[in-house]
Amino acid sequence: MSKMSDRLPLEHPPEASLEDLVAGELFPAERALLEAHLDKCRSCREKLASLSAPAGEMLRSFKPDALASGSAEVSGDFWHKLQAALPDLDAGLDPFAGLPVPQVCRDELNVSEPLSWEEIGPARVARVAADPVQDYVCFVIKTPGASVFPHHRHLGTEDLVVLQGGLTDDFGHMGVGDYRQYPAGSAHAPLMDTGPLCVALTLIRGGLEFSS
Ligand SMILES: [Zn+2]
Repeated sequence: MSKMSDRLPLEHPPEASLEDLVAGELFPAERALLEAHLDKCRSCREKLASLSAPAGEMLRSFKPDALASGSAEVSGDFWHKLQAALPDLDAGLDPFAGLPVPQVCRDELNVSEPLSWEEIGPARVARVAADPVQDYVCFVIKTPGASVFPHHRHLGTEDLVVLQGGLTDDFGHMGVGDYRQYPAGSAHAPLMDTGPLCVALTLIRGGLEFSS
């Protein structure tokens, strides 16, 4: 028996993006999208491991926190007790509550404010990172099953990773874990799969132009 959620991603980030990740040349939002894919993609994790073998050794030598000391365990235990005592407050503080965003991804995005949702057609989008100098914006997008995200053109590249559900456009179908980079100048109006809400993370460089 196979479930949709068990499928392996069929589309992967450009190899150059994995190299940039290893070289430490990416912004947190760029890392967040890659992490969302790596969370589901064993083949990219293996590729990353082979790219990062020497760098990984170096990183580990800089991470003393990974070796939890006795005192760190005590404070961790305290924190868990505190969380258990305040379940409602904790849920209220999690901006990604109820969204299928992997923890590694949340850690990279490090969002501390509640998400602010805007309507774009049938979809709801919330900005989770932005940099006006680098000219990128990162959104989490929720679009109901079987609906169409309004047609638009990308002025720069768009990186997209699907966290739940799926979508189809002229570039093909994307399911959970798939990562696609749309070239600058490309346009699409993705149709969501029938079924659950489609949830995706997107990183848009240079902005979008919606067709009227
Ligand atoms: Zn992959």
